[in-house]
Amino acid sequence: MLSHIRIVLVKTFHSGNIGSTARAMKTMGLSDLCLVNPVDFISIAGQEEALKMAMSANDVIKNITLVDNLSDAIKDCMVVIASTARCRGYDLPELTPEESAKLLYTTAQQSAQESNVALVFGPERMGLSNEDLQRCNYRVTIPTSPDYSSLNLAAAVQTLSYEIFKQYKYLKDKPEENSIRTLPRSKALENLYNHFESTLNDTGFIVKNHPGEIMQKLRNIFTRAELDESEVNILRGILSSVDREIKK
Ligand code: SAH
Repeated sequence: MLSHIRIVLVKTFHSGNIGSTARAMKTMGLSDLCLVNPVDFISIAGQEEALKMAMSANDVIKNITLVDNLSDAIKDCMVVIASTARCRGYDLPELTPEESAKLLYTTAQQSAQESNVALVFGPERMGLSNEDLQRCNYRVTIPTSPDYSSLNLAAAVQTLSYEIFKQYKYLKDKPEENSIRTLPRSKALENLYNHFESTLNDTGFIVKNHPGEIMQKLRNIFTRAELDESEVNILRGILSSVDREIKK
């Protein structure tokens, strides 16, 4: 499952940060690192610097995927979460680090073999652009002191990877927990219904001025189904993948 969780670094400036990211990932059981247009890593000196900082995570560096744009980095992903130090222009539904880890892990665990999930990090100076944020489904911000909210890139990767590893360890060491159904909070259900309504509006299944009773019927279906938290997350992931197709 951890192998289905991809870390995407967009336009990283310092190759040392790429090496430190690889090390942070490997300590937390992650291995899929994708770079979108790195600045310095394309040079031999850059790659040497990355390997130096990676220490024993040089296998992560050697298996890096290089792509030209974020769309290519996430094209096979069911859920894509943007890691942002602060919220700017384009807003996305916000998750806590723990909620993001749960969503990434449960989706990676339950999705089909070829489906992945991704956590996306921005360049050191600027963070992610609005254009890149639009390609993500959610955003996560690591809580910090109000005096200084911007973590070093690899430190941000380490923190969020640790949350993911905790999910893995918790479920692996306590298999009985797998069978306990965690019911969603009503806000999560409300968000699911809103997501359905907006996606079905976009696909034209619901006609804006004549919505009929579709949403009420869907609510009835899902109430009878007694969805648990991870099932709500899967449905949100499916809707997000439809949204992405529509936006293409
Ligand atoms: N100056 C930029 C921060 C860039 S730090 C800005 O203010 O947006 C590089 C990357 O590390 C960010 O794009 C983000 O992906 C991650 N990062 C840094 N601090 C973070 C935080 N508090 N929460 C989540 N991600 C963070």
